[in-house]
Amino acid sequence: MDKITKTEEEWKKQLSPEQYHILREKGTERPFTGKYYLHKEKGVYVCAACGNELFKSDTKFDAGCGWPSFSDVIDKSKVVFTRDTSHGMIRTEITCAKCGGHLGHVFDDGPEPTGLRYCINSASIEFEK
Ligand code: FE
Repeated sequence: MDKITKTEEEWKKQLSPEQYHILREKGTERPFTGKYYLHKEKGVYVCAACGNELFKSDTKFDAGCGWPSFSDVIDKSKVVFTRDTSHGMIRTEITCAKCGGHLGHVFDDGPEPTGLRYCINSASIEFEK
């Protein structure tokens, strides 16, 4: 995959302040506030920063946690998994493999068949029909 490298200035120009904070500074939107939390249309969710196709709508489910949740990623090569020990928790952070943007975290309490829950910020993704 071709990687995208931009300066922080370039990202600031391209992204909204909220998107910049979440994607580039590993922020988290408040639960139940994101535009895709209850979104149910059929399509694909791409990285809001670079357009990398990440999740299909048929893997989206309501985990009750307040963020868009997916049971699988389109392809494991689309994201990078990193151990995150911040905030006194041990979690696995998910970043976009193409632009390095922070997407959210993955937990192992999701539905079958993967058993995974990709907990993703709405601000980090865009929906495409
Ligand atoms: Fe990206």
